[in-house]
Amino acid sequence: MAIRLNIAALGGVGMTSARTRARLVDRLKAQGISHPAVLAAMAEVPRHGFMDEALAHKAYDDVSLPIGFGQTISQPYIVARMTELAMGAAQHDKVLEIGTGCGYQTTVLALLFKTVYSIERIGGLHKATRERLSILGVHNARLRHADGSKGLADAAPFDVIIITAAAPILPEDMLPQLKVGGRLIFPVGEAEQELRQIERTAEGYVETRLEKVNFVPLLPGIV
Ligand code: SAH
Repeated sequence: MAIRLNIAALGGVGMTSARTRARLVDRLKAQGISHPAVLAAMAEVPRHGFMDEALAHKAYDDVSLPIGFGQTISQPYIVARMTELAMGAAQHDKVLEIGTGCGYQTTVLALLFKTVYSIERIGGLHKATRERLSILGVHNARLRHADGSKGLADAAPFDVIIITAAAPILPEDMLPQLKVGGRLIFPVGEAEQELRQIERTAEGYVETRLEKVNFVPLLPGIV
């Protein structure tokens, strides 16, 4: 793996056990996740360290949980699923995540990609997550406080772009920011959302429609 996490530095009570995460990984396998490096990353990242201590006892349940500012930490299954799709890209050098939130998905990606760029529109979340990732030793994540709805042209092209908030329509501005062999993985829709993947090939873009999902909305501007 590209980096080593400093899990002890997070502190926290009781839930640091690798055994609890091993059970999470068994569940992910039963749900169809099979990529060994993705499963290893899910076993490594201490999800309890990405939320309020009062919720930490639920950290390894397969549910999304509140992280303040009206936002949530994604369900482990969806993080693993999107990461597995990301690993299908031709190369694993540069990934862009839109919607840093608490930095859980960011950290999973940081174990598998050389560099992770991640954008968050809420200043308070961006700041708290920057501190958390620094304590945890995630040195290869570049966090930005910005509106990511048009991607990140100045750091393009990317091997993978993952959007972790749902836009009502396809975010077309991001397509030219993909390398050939790269993938855009994103939820689309409002009340009803669907996970989709667009792969950039030498001939053009190939879209695959995947399962129903439930993300917070992609919103414009920064706060
Ligand atoms: N990746 C996170 C999921 C966070 S929830 C995890 O691992 O749990 C989605 C996040 O997207 C929220 O924090 C929300 O504030 C952020 N977001 C919504 N619209 C955005 C935008 N236009 N640009 C950047 N971040 C955005």
